[in-house]
Amino acid sequence: MNSLNLPKPTERNIAIHISSQAERAVRVGHPWLFENAIQKQSKEGQAGDLAVIFDKKRRFLAIGLYDPTSPIRVKILQAKQSATINQDFFRARLTEAAEIRQPLMQSGTTGYRLVHGENDRLPGLIIDRYADTLVIKLYTAAWFPHLQHVLAALADVHSAERWVLRLGRSVQESETFGLEDGQILKGDPITEPIEFIENGLTLGADVVRGHKTGFFFDQRDNRFRVRELAQGKRVLDVFSYNGGFAVSAAAGGAESVLSIDISAPALESAQRNIARNQHLPEVANCEFDTWVADAFEALATLTKKFDLVVVDPPSFANSANQIDGALKAYSKLAELALPRVEQGGILLMGSCSSRVKADAFFATLQRATNNRLIELERTFHAVDHPMRPEFPEGAYLKALYSQVK
Ligand code: SAH
Repeated sequence: MNSLNLPKPTERNIAIHISSQAERAVRVGHPWLFENAIQKQSKEGQAGDLAVIFDKKRRFLAIGLYDPTSPIRVKILQAKQSATINQDFFRARLTEAAEIRQPLMQSGTTGYRLVHGENDRLPGLIIDRYADTLVIKLYTAAWFPHLQHVLAALADVHSAERWVLRLGRSVQESETFGLEDGQILKGDPITEPIEFIENGLTLGADVVRGHKTGFFFDQRDNRFRVRELAQGKRVLDVFSYNGGFAVSAAAGGAESVLSIDISAPALESAQRNIARNQHLPEVANCEFDTWVADAFEALATLTKKFDLVVVDPPSFANSANQIDGALKAYSKLAELALPRVEQGGILLMGSCSSRVKADAFFATLQRATNNRLIELERTFHAVDHPMRPEFPEGAYLKALYSQVK
């Protein structure tokens, strides 16, 4: 690991005094301290400096990672009790996160999230397992000076043959200490998609260039549910990406699956994922098609009906002022998807916009379809994407299963 020339761990400290309003949130364990909550700080900080936050009475409140480029100026690692941020600290956090995921780790599924950022009290850090490959994704440059300790702790807690580093978009634009998005930190170079198992199905993902870390593990439980619902059905999979829902539906005995995505490479991956499971008679017997198209246009053009329609769009609201636009987009999608569902058929619509709250999402779908949806089930987060009550912003995933009247 040392041969990698990772930035040296920092012990640089910066003292921060905050407003009493922000104090309350920090006290209950909210992981973000915004720039405008800071009333005084001991010096200009650099990315990754340890920010020690004090209350009005100059008592310790929390410790976190300073990020001078983000409005979320401090990503809080621990509140109430002080902590030394080192390999031991990260080992304890990784161990705690691993414990929550024990059921998954023992299930035969080999693709899942080991660390879910804020929700595992490691804000801005994601670690996903793809069989023997771990993908470490940084969403803030504040992690660079702590990476050596994080990786040492990771080696203590999780065995793996390969580590891949991924950098969020804003991180790629910051000082990266010679590290690059997609860089192999340990193990052999990657020449092929990495294969892993999800509920008995073999899937492949491009962990070097793919969205997020290459695959959307967060939809695993919904894919399993779709598999259970798919027997004999004509399935439409909108916003398919690399075909996770398509493979699951095929494995569940779907008569046919049509996958739509705007990205041709994504649908080529979906084809390969279907091919990886041809040994299953259900998959071999399923008629699989792909269509590279804008989902809105495709839905408006299609005339065929389907028994099961899955609509799993990207996040439409990345900032507060996009919430209305996102709700309009969900509304439009529901309106366009509805006529594609055979009477009595099932519509599954997902949303991964944390800014769009579950109730608003579900109500929008009903309004858009003139209450023609009989609600069957609502689902939320999978076990490897935990939520924390003190961090409502982390609750992003929701899905509605409904039957069309
Ligand atoms: N359902 C997938 C994840 C979807 S991610 C799964 O289970 O893994 C969102 C996908 O939407 C991406 O593949 C992206 O290429 C696609 N996309 C984004 N905008 C689109 C549009 N307007 N029309 C069709 N696909 C779009």
